[in-house]
Amino acid sequence: MYSIDQVNFSGKRVLIRVDFNVPLNGAFEVTDNSRIKAAIATIRKVTSAGGTAILMSHLGRPKGGPQDKYSLKHVVPALEELLGHVVSFIPNCVGEDAVAESSSLVEGSVALLENLRFHKEEEAGDEFFAGQLAEHGDIYINDAFGTAHREHASTAVIARFFPHDKYFGYLMEDEIRNIEKVLNQPEHPVCAIIGGAKVSSKIAVLRNLLGKVDKLIIGGGMAFTFIRAKGGKTGLSLVEETEFETALDILSEAHKRGIQVFLPTDVMVADEFSNLANRKRSNADQVPSGWMGLDIGPDSVNAFREAILSSKTILWNGPMGVFEMDNFRDGTLGVAKAMVEATASGSYSLVGGGDSVAAINQFNMASQLSYVSTGGGAMLELLEGIELPGIKAIRN
Ligand code: AMP
Repeated sequence: MYSIDQVNFSGKRVLIRVDFNVPLNGAFEVTDNSRIKAAIATIRKVTSAGGTAILMSHLGRPKGGPQDKYSLKHVVPALEELLGHVVSFIPNCVGEDAVAESSSLVEGSVALLENLRFHKEEEAGDEFFAGQLAEHGDIYINDAFGTAHREHASTAVIARFFPHDKYFGYLMEDEIRNIEKVLNQPEHPVCAIIGGAKVSSKIAVLRNLLGKVDKLIIGGGMAFTFIRAKGGKTGLSLVEETEFETALDILSEAHKRGIQVFLPTDVMVADEFSNLANRKRSNADQVPSGWMGLDIGPDSVNAFREAILSSKTILWNGPMGVFEMDNFRDGTLGVAKAMVEATASGSYSLVGGGDSVAAINQFNMASQLSYVSTGGGAMLELLEGIELPGIKAIRN
């Protein structure tokens, strides 16, 4: 219903919100083009059908107006290379001149508007500004999953100006279809693997998942808050004392619901937070004083692997340890390998959220999983069960 597959773009000006918030080096070259790549299918769909694609995005966090280092003109060469097509750059996103330029483009062409965040009205979700942006298009497409959790002018408010002509781009459609499949119609048993640094940032995710999963694996730094709350010794490991009660409550709720919970039984401990630290293996609840757990141990990897291999749907958010340090990445790698193995034998696997996605890319395993999400914050909020403003705006 909101898919661009059925839309006739011929002769239309199509305003597409993309996420070109890409990293640039000192020479203003794009160092990771994956977000641009992710938008290409939607752009091509529009132009090959004879529409004009007018792209809008933010880049970085400019404060107080235009700043050359945050200009989207730096992104044009990388976009042209991926599209194999010339891109016109329009040096403002709103105003008479900008609209005159976007209106004079020939069918099948592509233009990129200047950084939306050069105007504070973008993040404020200003309706007048959204209306000015809307002047560029006959049709609006949102393909910026990375900002779908923001109620900004270009991601949500603007949809009001296109009551009958608003759609999800292919990336948005893919992201939504995959996460909704896991959360709403999964094949059981469902296993969620939650890791990362802090429990406090994942409480809402854990609570929402309690209603969805059969097995819950908890790893990473946040596992130590659970272990300590249960009376274990965690040494210098990352622990959030204010979350003990929440941790125990989550465990008891999981127990009531018959969910199998897996916490690490052994961990790799270090005598300082460094890749070069002395390290050894320890029971997860007997971390010696002066030492900190920076990864899960081999027994934990085996137990987690078995839980993963005996599941039909597997969802992963958050690394099992400090995978950025080579000496503490084995736990994260072990879980990633188990997910690849499970996927190869027919299970559905989804990795969502910033750091576990970074780990999967570092291990070059993305193509061996069912779906790897592009959105950090947006995916986290979906996992929390929140209806994202960028999704709601199209559907309502
Ligand atoms: P998050 O953004 O909450 O998913 O956390 C990701 C971060 O957690 C990564 O940068 C990891 O290095 C870090 N992390 C994972 N395990 C640990 C641990 N045992 N101790 C400290 N940090 C950790």
